[in-house]
Amino acid sequence: MAAKILGGKEIADAIKAEIRAEIEDLAEVHGIVPCLAVVRVGDDPASAVYVGNKVKTSEELGLASIHHHLPAAVEHSDLLELVRSLNERDDVDGILVQLPLPPQIDESEILEAIDPEKDVDGFHPVNVGRLSQGRESLVPCTPAGVIEILKRSGIAIAGSHAVIVGRSNIVGKPMAMLLLQENATVTICHSRTRDLASITSQADILIAAIGRPGFVRGEHIKEGATVIDVGINKVSDAGTVGELFDAAEIDKRLRAIENRGFTLVGDVNPKEAAEKAGAYTPVPGGVGLLTIAMLMRNTVEAAKRIRGI
Ligand code: NAP
Repeated sequence: MAAKILGGKEIADAIKAEIRAEIEDLAEVHGIVPCLAVVRVGDDPASAVYVGNKVKTSEELGLASIHHHLPAAVEHSDLLELVRSLNERDDVDGILVQLPLPPQIDESEILEAIDPEKDVDGFHPVNVGRLSQGRESLVPCTPAGVIEILKRSGIAIAGSHAVIVGRSNIVGKPMAMLLLQENATVTICHSRTRDLASITSQADILIAAIGRPGFVRGEHIKEGATVIDVGINKVSDAGTVGELFDAAEIDKRLRAIENRGFTLVGDVNPKEAAEKAGAYTPVPGGVGLLTIAMLMRNTVEAAKRIRGI
């Protein structure tokens, strides 16, 4: 039987509708409008798109937002000062510093300077620690989005064997903690894992967060497994497109390459996942759509906690 495609749009729209209702409620009952402050440094085009989307979604949902755009050559101390000033502001509930930062900036120090109660990316060590202890915390948005996809698609997590490929602080590690909290048996794999396919092919839920186009193939997937593709990679050669997609999709992808120079693909080979998995998320149109929705949810959560609501 053909694998089910777990699209992210419907789920992201449902979550956004819930958040919008909660924001209206906060305004009506408590007279507050949660506010997200986004800090961007330099002119990285991808960061500009991400920040633009975050500010736009904030506005759509009725959140207030502040956008600081600093020059690429900004001094570390000036960025630190900005973060500290945002910590102090009573009208700011969430602070997000868009990564990556230029080389003169000590990224860890900036992320640690964010008040943990306003850390809507969930990267501060206090939130990482709370998450690993199973306590309430602000949780990194992408793994939180994966949990929403699984739950809202009716995929049983408790008791399942979840295998994550990737151990980054942004995706792999927090993903493992969240799945553990949901009572999965969790295995984390990485670039030094021996005989990867022998481990991933035991997974009921296989999560790929690697950063390599189409890396997860049929041999990595257990028959009927749920495969979640976190990867977002730019591909611009027709050969790779031919390996990853079926005839109908190849045309669309080649047109995208012609028009804008690349097409976005995940870490999973979708053609082989479709043959082997029970369900899988597409790229684009899967996990990526949830990330911003979860950021909005974190901002509302932060506003409520700061105010004791
Ligand atoms: P990352 O920091 O580069 O981490 C990649 C991980 O994959 C590392 O743990 C690495 O292992 C592992 N890896 C690399 N090659 C491997 C191999 N051959 N076999 C097994 N493991 C291997 O990347 P990331 O930030 O977690 O992002 C991963 C992907 O998700 C990227 O495509 C990124 O664009 C995407 N992403 C998407 C979203 C979204 O909103 N959907 C958000 C964040 C990231 P080592 O630790 O041993 O090096």
